[in-house]
Amino acid sequence: MAKIQTPQPVRGTQDIFGEDQERFQHVAETFERVRRLYGFKGVQMPVFEPTAVFARSLGETTDVVSKEMYSFEDRGGDSLTLRPEFTAGISRAFLTNGWQQHAPMKLSTHGPLFRYERPQKGRYRQFHQLDAEIIGAGEAAADVELLCFADQLLKELGISDGVTLQLNTLGDAESRDAWRDALVKHFQANKADLSQDSQDRLERNPLRILDSKERQDRPIADSAPEIDAYLSDEAKEFFGQVTEGLDACGVAWERNSRLVRGLDYYRHTAFEFVTDRLGAQGTVLAGGRYDGLIESLGGPATPAVGWAAGIERLGMLLDEAIPDPVELAILPMGDDAIMKALSVASEMRSSQFSAEIFARGKFKKRMARANQVGALAAIIIGEDELASGKVQFKNLATGEQNELELADVTEKMWDLRFSEDLDNFESHLDDLEQEVAQSGEGD
Ligand code: ATP
Ligand code: MG
Repeated sequence: MAKIQTPQPVRGTQDIFGEDQERFQHVAETFERVRRLYGFKGVQMPVFEPTAVFARSLGETTDVVSKEMYSFEDRGGDSLTLRPEFTAGISRAFLTNGWQQHAPMKLSTHGPLFRYERPQKGRYRQFHQLDAEIIGAGEAAADVELLCFADQLLKELGISDGVTLQLNTLGDAESRDAWRDALVKHFQANKADLSQDSQDRLERNPLRILDSKERQDRPIADSAPEIDAYLSDEAKEFFGQVTEGLDACGVAWERNSRLVRGLDYYRHTAFEFVTDRLGAQGTVLAGGRYDGLIESLGGPATPAVGWAAGIERLGMLLDEAIPDPVELAILPMGDDAIMKALSVASEMRSSQFSAEIFARGKFKKRMARANQVGALAAIIIGEDELASGKVQFKNLATGEQNELELADVTEKMWDLRFSEDLDNFESHLDDLEQEVAQSGEGD
């Protein structure tokens, strides 16, 4: 009989489990918590859209549209594309659902995206993003609020050290066009020295040359004219308001006048949170203002600003993976105790405690496992306990052990959880006090 070949995973996809999954989940959960603090409403978007949604809004000449999209014809003959980013789909939804009536809208989502790229560390063909958008708000305050959200997220993830916010303005349409003309002149004069990719970009998308990762392009890109000389008074004022707001909120930033975003639709504010800890894949969160996008989808002029962050890249920056908590370990001794263990476990879970049964191996090994997963307490069920209907309850922090009625276990567990929360809270307060003391010393 012919041997059956096991199908291989698609190149550039990952099966995320174990520690990677713990990192991934911690990033997504922190995002969900912080977005509520900022009043962003969650949305769920389709994974595929008509190809035109991306082709029109991102611009035919961008790398994403020209080389990276997963587009296919479905059985009905429609051209569909697996979403390479969130913003275009959310903008489409804004129009097709008539969300104008709710504007300004603060929306957030996260999930998988698809780009046909060369897979490497931190770069996959299916990857995942967090995404935040404010649609229908043209004022600089929206940019500031959105950036504060990003900054707080990175701080709460504990990865803000060594990550800098690089900020630029691309000006309004008038400033951007004048700057673009100057860039084209500069690049034309140095055309022969540019990489083939950048020579192609010169016609279609000259701003992107500034962003080029090709070494031979760097000197030419670095000596290109800066936007500042071309900014209109309005554009200058807008940028001034954004930076003033960031300073007022204590968000550190750095001007990077070379920063442009890969997609065509950006105006005014453009930004990236960048780290040197991930090699070439150093951008962890990026975005900007995209006032022209909704019009490019046939909608009314609608100002908007947003960002996206790669979940895998954020996860790689976390100091440690954070495993799901197990609060209570249940150790049935002997086969007869297993059913009892199951019923005790489900009772504890109904009382909102996470419980895990450790049924196999020597008693000592099981206790070691219970300690290793960080359980607050262990319940031991042996023959005596089966007969008496009571259980042995062991506080794993103190080692203290008592015989308890099951009904009393719940109360004990509430106490243990409460004192653990209190300990965490107190050590958090200590940290804050130390921070305050240190910042006082610095003055
Ligand atoms: P890059 O310059 O790294 O290609 P980009 O400009 O294409 O990034 P965006 O479209 O702005 O990236 O996406 C925002 C974030 O999503 C990036 O900063 C990164 O963290 C993440 N990201 C983008 N592409 C990938 C990918 N192929 N694999 C993993 N993460 C990605
Ligand atoms: Mg890219």
